[in-house]
Amino acid sequence: MENSARLREFIQSFTHLIEQADNYEERIFVEGKNLLSELIRHDDWLPEEFAKPSVERYQQYLLYCDPLERFSVVSFVWAPGQTTPVHDHTVWGMVGVMRGAELCEEYQLCAEHQRDSATAGLRAIGSHHLPTGSVDLVSPRIGDIHKVSNALKDRVSISIHVYGANIGAVKRYVYDLHSGQIKPFISGYSSKVIPNIWDCSTAQASTY
Ligand code: FE
Repeated sequence: MENSARLREFIQSFTHLIEQADNYEERIFVEGKNLLSELIRHDDWLPEEFAKPSVERYQQYLLYCDPLERFSVVSFVWAPGQTTPVHDHTVWGMVGVMRGAELCEEYQLCAEHQRDSATAGLRAIGSHHLPTGSVDLVSPRIGDIHKVSNALKDRVSISIHVYGANIGAVKRYVYDLHSGQIKPFISGYSSKVIPNIWDCSTAQASTY
C-alpha cells in the first residue's frame, strides 16, 4: 500500500462511521478506536513535516478536518520532557500513540464547582502510561480533564488524535492546579497547510 493511502482510507472510513453513528458517542468510540488502532499500527505514512518537534512547545499539526467539522485528525509531536497544561476538550476525543509513549494524568472538578465560575478545585483521579499502539479516550461523558506528557526522556513521541469537532477552533479551558484558575483557550494548529493525501498518481503509475 502506498503510505498516504493509510491516512486517506482512515479518513474515508471515519467519514462513513460519523455518518452512520449520528453522534452516538459509544459507537464512535468502539468502531473509531478500531480504525485508529489500525492507522497507528504502521508508522510509515506521516509526512516528515507533520512529525517535526519544536524546542519551544509540543506541536499540533492538523492532518484533516471534515468539511462539516464533525471530526478532525491531528498529529501531536512531543520533544523529550514536553507536557500540556491541565485542559479539557468539551467534545469526544481519541489519542492513539504511534511513536514513543505518553503519560496521561486525569483530573475531575470537585463537586462544589459552579459552572461558569473562574476558579475550581480539581482532584487528581489517576494516571496511566500509554505505550506505542495504545488508544486513550476522553469526553465530557467519560472524563474530559487531563494533562498529557511525553513519557520518554530521550526521544520524540507522536500521537494521532481524532476529535468530534474542528478541535483547533473549539473554545475550551485550561486549569491552573495551584490557583484553581480556569482560563478559556482556543488551541489553533501549529501548521498552515495539511498533507496532500489525494494525489494517487504514484500508486496508479505502476499499473500502466
Ligand atoms: Fe487532551
